[in-house]
Amino acid sequence: MFGTLWRHHAPHAHRHPRDVFAANAIEGDPIEEFVIDVHSHPGPDSGHQGFNHHYLGGGVDDLLRVMDRTGVDVSCFSAHTAIGPDFVRGNALVAGAVRAHPARVVGFAVPNPNYPELAKEELIRRVDDQGFRGIKIHSTNHAYPIHGPNYAPVFEFADDHRLPILSHTFDSPARLKELAARYPNARFIWAHAIGAHVRDPDLAMTVRDLPNVFCEMAGSGNRRGQIEAFVRVAGIESAVFGSDYPVLSQTWQLGNVAHADLSEAEKRKIFSQNIRGVLGL
Ligand SMILES: [Zn+2]
Repeated sequence: MFGTLWRHHAPHAHRHPRDVFAANAIEGDPIEEFVIDVHSHPGPDSGHQGFNHHYLGGGVDDLLRVMDRTGVDVSCFSAHTAIGPDFVRGNALVAGAVRAHPARVVGFAVPNPNYPELAKEELIRRVDDQGFRGIKIHSTNHAYPIHGPNYAPVFEFADDHRLPILSHTFDSPARLKELAARYPNARFIWAHAIGAHVRDPDLAMTVRDLPNVFCEMAGSGNRRGQIEAFVRVAGIESAVFGSDYPVLSQTWQLGNVAHADLSEAEKRKIFSQNIRGVLGL
């Protein structure tokens, strides 16, 4: 039911010798490597994908405490409020976190395409004035299509400023390919790529040929072996670590990479090396 890519990757209890990262994870120690989480949403939530979630302990300070425990050095923040009901308020919350913790927090600005003028002002204010280094879009929550005209200025802004754009979807591998070619200086990060690939098995093959596309691996439905199978096709250089905190636990998602059947060198690429330069870190 998962397509051919996964079929031969049955669970193996101790298939690989335990490397330093798996040992860190087993011991509950911080990961001994520079780690960047490209995907986190601290702060209060409301109306996320039609539900009213409430995340106990999902605030900025809570995430910083989790980062200390897991050994995540830097997290990219976009506020839940921003991908929900009030993008300006959410971006302001992230601006406060960037000011308070410049070494630990990278701000990702959220534009709501239903308010194109305000969205443009927000991108300028957050990126040019306040040092945000990425953009997060959420076409589902904001109920606006990726290919709609109000997203074009957002992609242009990312292209002009050489910024990464994180999204839970870029519609389809074909649309992603089109966007990556049209905006070659922007970097596209497809979040939850394993789940997306299960739904659309062209994704890994498409990503393989696109140097400005990255795939983030967080997922509640990931099975053992799927990250490995994905990077074998998409290429290890495309893979980046993200957690979607607090929707998913940063500890759990970090463990998925730490325990993957990959070499230490490959895990280092996922933990930070592939994306470090893009974020200017
Ligand atoms: Zn997200």
